[in-house]
Formats: sequence, structure tokens, C-alpha cells
Amino acid sequence: MKVPLLDLPGQYQALKSELNQVWFEVMSSAGFIGGARVKTLEEQVAQYCEVQHAVSCANGTDALMIIMRALGIGPGDEIITTPFTFWATVECITSVGATPVFVDIEPGTYNMNVSLVEAAITDRTKAIIPVHIFGQCVDMHRLMQIASERGLYVVEDACQAIGARHYGNMAGSMGTIAAFSFFPSKNLGGAGDGGIITTNDQALAARCRKIAGHGTSKKYFHDEFGQNSRLDALQAGILLVKLPHLDEWNEQRRTAAKSYGNLLEGCGLDLPEERPHNKATYHLYVVKAKSAAQAERLMGHLKDNDIGTALYYPLALHEQQAFTKNPGYVKPHLPVAQSCNERTFAIPCFPGITRDQVNYVVDVLESAL
Ligand SMILES: *Cc1c(COP(=O)(O)O)cnc(C)c1O
Repeated sequence: MKVPLLDLPGQYQALKSELNQVWFEVMSSAGFIGGARVKTLEEQVAQYCEVQHAVSCANGTDALMIIMRALGIGPGDEIITTPFTFWATVECITSVGATPVFVDIEPGTYNMNVSLVEAAITDRTKAIIPVHIFGQCVDMHRLMQIASERGLYVVEDACQAIGARHYGNMAGSMGTIAAFSFFPSKNLGGAGDGGIITTNDQALAARCRKIAGHGTSKKYFHDEFGQNSRLDALQAGILLVKLPHLDEWNEQRRTAAKSYGNLLEGCGLDLPEERPHNKATYHLYVVKAKSAAQAERLMGHLKDNDIGTALYYPLALHEQQAFTKNPGYVKPHLPVAQSCNERTFAIPCFPGITRDQVNYVVDVLESAL
């Protein structure tokens, strides 16, 4: 049996006629940039995420970078974030000349350990970037209390968490502002790059829109230096076809995750822990081996049996060469994040995965254990 890590061709087959229709309509209208589809997508994503405003852009990384600029973050500012995430989270901080300050993660959820945040705040701290890793929300309830007491912005990196809930609140609706990615493999993915920013702050939304569009409020008149970050009409059209299916797809991921939780309990691997007030989207179902050697052996066994798997993430961000090559770099001590290096790997958990496929993955893993 073959079980990929994610089945995008299967998703295309299921929605083929609608997706092809978008392609032909956009091609024949030649309205490639902007237009009704982009506007409708922004409205529908705002509604879906339960926020007032959504501003589309070229990708999730840009969404984060535009947010940094819109908040006026720059050299001298410190931004508190997690070392266990995709590199873009930290790139947005360094791209504006600010300094990332990493706090360690908690075992089980792999999310920022919010109880460590207060100790990391200094006079220079401007914002906190929690990342809802693998689709489970950070303890935003506590984090927002800390941030409001200290007057800090909270930028949700919700790129893996569209549709996730925390005490009933939607990911991307709880912080000052949030970033989402429509990278093809994300829970809501386009046929290329795409991203969106969500917020309830109208002025901030307007600033993001201006920065994403060359600092323009009137065509060919520029109040400031912005950038070019646009979502294509084609991507917007494809995302509009997929959005109505997102809840069902996330439910299917949750069902698979629940089965893994039941079937793999006691197998000797650390399984993901969903906190009671959270509803996670299981962008990835990540298990943690006892050692790097064990992870390598298990992943080899999965691959030999046609099962997709990959390390998420092989190396914590504070240990990446981009930092460590600087002679003055003082590596923070983040033992939980470091304990994940080469040890945490994903097993298939995607919309449409069958019961048989889940059982097969479990059998193969258990025979290797
Ligand atoms: C995917 C992702 C991003 C970046 O999104 P792109 O659309 O690939 O630029 C940022 N942060 C996290 C946590 C992500 O998973």
C-alpha cells in the first residue's frame, strides 16, 4: 500500500471540473491581477476567520514581513518568538533589522512555552510572534494577558492553523494581527504561492494594504516606500473553490489524528497532545522518537514501505548557521527545542486518508518499534 504524506493530486481529482473552470475563466478574461476574485476571497477569509479585515498578498512570508513593517518594527526592537517553526517566522524579524529573542517550547504541543515569555521581555521588546505549530493554537488566552499588560503587539503566525480554534476563537482572530499562507501543502493551499493577513484593526489593515501595494493610496502617487506583494486572480479563484471544503478536510485530518492517538498509545513514541480548550487542524501529525538514531531507523522503515514521512523540523532555528556563523552570537539554552532536533517526524495525516491507510501506517511503525 502506498501512503503519501499529503495527497494533492487526489484533492485535484475531487474538484477537477471546478478548478479547471477557474483556470479557463481567468485565462480567457486575462484579468490576472486583482479583480473580483481577490476581493471576494478577502471577504470570505475574513468571514471564515471571524475577523473584520483580510488583506491578501503574495505568500505567508510576505504577510509576516508586511506586518512587521506596518507595525513599525525595526532596528533595536526585540521580538519574542519560538525556535521551533519554519524559518520564515524569524526571517520577517531580521528582514526589518529587529532582533529575534527565542523562548523554549513545551513538550507535547511543541508550541511556545508562554510561561517563559515574561522573563524574556525587556525595554526593547515590541512584539511577540506565537506560531500555532502543526495547527494547534498557542496558549493565546495567557499570552494576550501578558501582552496587554506590557503593551506589546501579538502577531499570530497562523500559517499552519487556518480553521483552528482556541477557547472557541479562530486562529488569526486573537492577536493584534495574523499571517496565513496558501502554499500548496498548507491546509488551504493554492496552485502556487499565496498569503493573507487578518486583523480587527482597520487602520492596521489599511497600512498593510498600502505597503503590499507600493506604498500607494492613489495610483502612481506614493506616500511611502512599500513593496509588490499580490495574490493572483488565479490563486484567489482556486482558493475560493477550496475554502468551502476546508472544515470538512480539517475534520478528516482530526479523525486520522484521533485514530493515531488511540492506536499508537503506549508504542514508545511521544504523540502530539491536544490541549482541552484547543481544536487543532493537524497540518502535520508529528511524533517524537527516543533518539535521532531511532527516528532515522523508523523513517527508513516507513519509506521502505511506501509511506511518506519527513522531519519537522530537523534543526531548531536558534542553531541555524545564519545565526551561529556570526562570531558574536550567543546561543540561547533551549533544551526542549534542542531535544527535537532530528527526532520529530510527521506521518501521513491528510484529508481523504482512509482507515486502511491509517492502520497500515500504524502496523508498519509498530513492526519497526
Ligand atoms: C508556510 C509557513 C510560513 C511561510 O509561508 P509561505 O507562504 O511559504 O511564505 C511561515 N510560517 C509558518 C509557520 C509556515 O508554516
